[in-house]
Amino acid sequence: MNKPTNKMNNVGRPSAPNITETHTDHPTFTGNKALQINEPLLFEVGSVEQTGVDIAAPRDVSANRLGGLDRDEEIGLYGLSEPQTMRHYVRLSQKNFAIDSGMYPLGSCTMKHNPRINEKIARLPGLADIHPLQPQQTVRGAIEVIENLADWLMKLTGMAAVAMSPKAGAHGELCGMMAIEAALRARGEATKRTKVLIPESAHGTNPATAVFVGYQVQTIKTRDDGTVDPATIREALSDEVAAIMLTNPNTCGLFERDIMEIADAVHEAGAYFYCDGANFNAIMGRARPGDLGVDAMHINLHKTFSTPHGGGGPGAGPVVLSEALAKFAPVPFVHRNADDNIVSLVEHKQGTQAFGRMTAFHGQMGMNTRALAYILSHGQDGIKQAAEDAVLNANYVKAKLKDVLTPSFEEQSPGFKRPAMHEALFQDDFLKDTGITTLDFAKAMIDEGFHPMTMYFPLVVHGAMLIEPTESESKDTLDQFIATMRDLAKSAQNGETERFLNAPFHAPMRRLDETLAARKPILKWTPNAD
Ligand SMILES: *Cc1c(COP(=O)(O)O)cnc(C)c1O
Repeated sequence: MNKPTNKMNNVGRPSAPNITETHTDHPTFTGNKALQINEPLLFEVGSVEQTGVDIAAPRDVSANRLGGLDRDEEIGLYGLSEPQTMRHYVRLSQKNFAIDSGMYPLGSCTMKHNPRINEKIARLPGLADIHPLQPQQTVRGAIEVIENLADWLMKLTGMAAVAMSPKAGAHGELCGMMAIEAALRARGEATKRTKVLIPESAHGTNPATAVFVGYQVQTIKTRDDGTVDPATIREALSDEVAAIMLTNPNTCGLFERDIMEIADAVHEAGAYFYCDGANFNAIMGRARPGDLGVDAMHINLHKTFSTPHGGGGPGAGPVVLSEALAKFAPVPFVHRNADDNIVSLVEHKQGTQAFGRMTAFHGQMGMNTRALAYILSHGQDGIKQAAEDAVLNANYVKAKLKDVLTPSFEEQSPGFKRPAMHEALFQDDFLKDTGITTLDFAKAMIDEGFHPMTMYFPLVVHGAMLIEPTESESKDTLDQFIATMRDLAKSAQNGETERFLNAPFHAPMRRLDETLAARKPILKWTPNAD
C-alpha cells in the first residue's frame, strides 16, 4: 500500500492556499480534472441579460394594484439557459461528500445510510403535499403518523411522555431543561436551584442549553477511564442543583456503567436527570433510559433513526419525559374522541401544565415519517440488531487499528478492558515527534477518498479522533477504511510528512482558513472583490 506515497512524491508541492492550480502531472487547458469540474458561482458564470425562460410581456389587462410599490429597478437576477442551470447545480452537488458517495465516519454524528423505503414513504403525496394550515380533519393521517412514532419512542425508551416538536438535539435539550425548570417552579424551588452539573466530556450544546435557560454550569471532572464517578456527583450535589446533564453512552463511546447510582443520587438531592440521548443508536432495543432513572432525554431522529442530515439539513429532537416531568410537556396535544379516534391537535389537556410551545406547528413532519418508516421496517428485533451491529463495527475498527493509532482510555483502565460502544476513540500520541497533527492526518484522509472522522472532540483527550462507522457499513468498506488508516499511520511514523502537511492535494478546495470563515463569514458576493 505504499503506492500512493510514491506517486505523491512526484507531485510538485504547491503552496497550501492555492485553490486554482490543478495538482496533477498533466495540467489541462480548462483547469478541470476530467469529471472534477471547477464550477464558479452563478454570479460569475451567469448574466442578468440571460434567462432560461421566455415570458411574454404582460398585456395591460388589469389595473395596477401595487399601490405605488412597483419595482422601479431591474431585479438583477443572474440567469443561465436551462441546461447551463442544470449543470451548474449538478456540478455543485458533485462537490458534496455524502453518505451516498462514501463512508462518513464522523464520530458523534451517526452518519448512517438512509434506507430508500424511508424516502418513498416520506414522498407519498398524502404526507408530502400537506400544509400545517390545512383544516385538521384533512390531516388526521399525518397526526396519526406523529402519534405512532411517539408511541414507539416511549416504548423504546420506557418513558411516560414525549414532546414531538423540537427541531434538533439542541432544541430537544432546551425543551427538556424547560420541562425541568417548570417542574422546579411548580415545587417552588426554581429560584433556589440555579446550577446544572455537566461532565467535561459533554457535547458543547449541553452547557450552551443550560446557560440559555438561565442556569450556572458546574463542570464535573471525568475519571481516568473516561466515565463519570458517582462519588464526584454526590460531592457536587446540593439543594442548589437543578439537574445533571449526562450523555450515555458518553462522547468517548463508553457506557456510563454507574448511571443508576448517579440517577439515585441526583433524585435523592431533589434534582432531575437530563440524559443527552444523541448516542441512543448504540443501545436502542437493548436498554431503556426509563429503567436507568432518566427524567428527560432527547432523541436525534436524524442520527439514530437514519434521516439524512448535515450541511445544516433538517434535524428533529423529540424529548421523552419521565412520570415526574410528563405533565409539563409542551403543547400541542393529540385529542381523541370517545371512540379513541384521533380528531385534532389541541392546546389544552386536562391534568397537564405545559410550560409552553417549542415551535410553530408540529416539528419536522418529513423526519417523523422517515423515522417511523425506519422503525417499522426494522421491527423490534431489527432495531436491536442495528444497535448491536453499530457496536460491533466500532469495536472491529478499534481492534484493527489499536496497534497503529493510540486508543484512548486503554492504558488508564487496564482493569476495565471494556469494549467500546458505537464509536472508537483514538488520540494523537502515535503522531508524537512526527510534526504531523490530527488535522494534517484528517486532510490526508480526504486525498484517500474518506470523509475525516471527528477531530479534537471530545476535549478530554488530546488530538482526539472519534470514529463512528455505524451499522450500515459493510465489512469490505470497513476493511478498506482500516487499511487506509493503517497505511497513513505508518506513513506518518516513517516521516513521510509530505503526504500530510499540505494535504489534501486532490480536493477541489484545499486548506481553507476555517477559523477566519467562522469568525468573519462573508455571506454576500460582491463583484470584483478580492
Ligand atoms: C449531535 C449531538 C448533539 C446536538 O444535536 P443536534 O441535533 O446537532 O442539535 C448533542 N449532544 C451530542 C452528544 C451529539 O452528538
